[in-house]
Amino acid sequence: MSQAVPPELPPIREVMERHGLSPQKSLGQNFLLDLNLTRRIARAAGSLVGRQVIEIGPGPGGLTRSLLEEGAERVIAIEMDHRCILALEELSAAYPGRLQIVEGDALKTDMRSLVGGRARIIANLPYNVGTPLLVRWLQTEPWPPWYETMTLMFQKEVAQRIVAPPGSRAYGRLGVLAQWRTHARILFDVDRRAFTPPPSVTSSVVELIPRPKPLAPADPKILEKVVAAAFGQRRKMMRAALKPIVRDPVALLEAAHIDPTVRAEQLGVEQFCQLAETLRQQAF
Ligand code: SAM
Repeated sequence: MSQAVPPELPPIREVMERHGLSPQKSLGQNFLLDLNLTRRIARAAGSLVGRQVIEIGPGPGGLTRSLLEEGAERVIAIEMDHRCILALEELSAAYPGRLQIVEGDALKTDMRSLVGGRARIIANLPYNVGTPLLVRWLQTEPWPPWYETMTLMFQKEVAQRIVAPPGSRAYGRLGVLAQWRTHARILFDVDRRAFTPPPSVTSSVVELIPRPKPLAPADPKILEKVVAAAFGQRRKMMRAALKPIVRDPVALLEAAHIDPTVRAEQLGVEQFCQLAETLRQQAF
């Protein structure tokens, strides 16, 4: 299929200067100015032709531009920094009818109601809200969710926690919640020097593809509560770690066929689901 020639647009650095977009740490602003890199991220999300995309934190619009260039039919970009909105409106004018800018806090935005049908979530996430946003997306009801795939940039250490297998040091709440409902993998690392300003650590792009059915049945809120308690005190045996949330942890663990003396990191995702289901069905 022949692609339309992309409109001539100024370099991102020029856009930042013209709109006074000096990066603010409090908003997690580490911008990508290299359009080869933003194109690589956009392409990592698969063909975007005819697709809807939700982007969190478009900032000066480098990744947004690549999403549009790669053929996304509609990009819905949620940005909290008012200073970026004018810059994004210029981009919207260059791609008529394809970029919808939503000014607001992504944590307070009902994304499902913004998309008609299914969408891909693609973002270079602000480091301070990346984890809460991911947990929210993973807890979406009903399942399968309104999004087809997520292609997200995190700090490398967070990316490693998302894909960490049981028994590993990085295994914890994020790994259980992510692997329970999605196939998650790290696609590639991005050097800190690719950002303006450079953050203190390397970043990684992670792909999360929803499983049609979760690994095992569980109520997402109860699972989250159990996993948070279990890893909240990860050095303790499960019978002690669960004390803050259940009256009789030993009875709960035994009813779920789990040795009360194991530690959280020894349990697989299905075992956490078993615990959550047992807790849901009986009072402990
Ligand atoms: N996508 C741009 C890029 O790759 O260059 C900017 C990425 S920067 C890491 C994160 C962006 O998220 C910033 O533009 C920041 O203003 C925005 N942001 C921070 N917190 C937000 C929130 N709660 N809701 C929406 N946007 C937010």
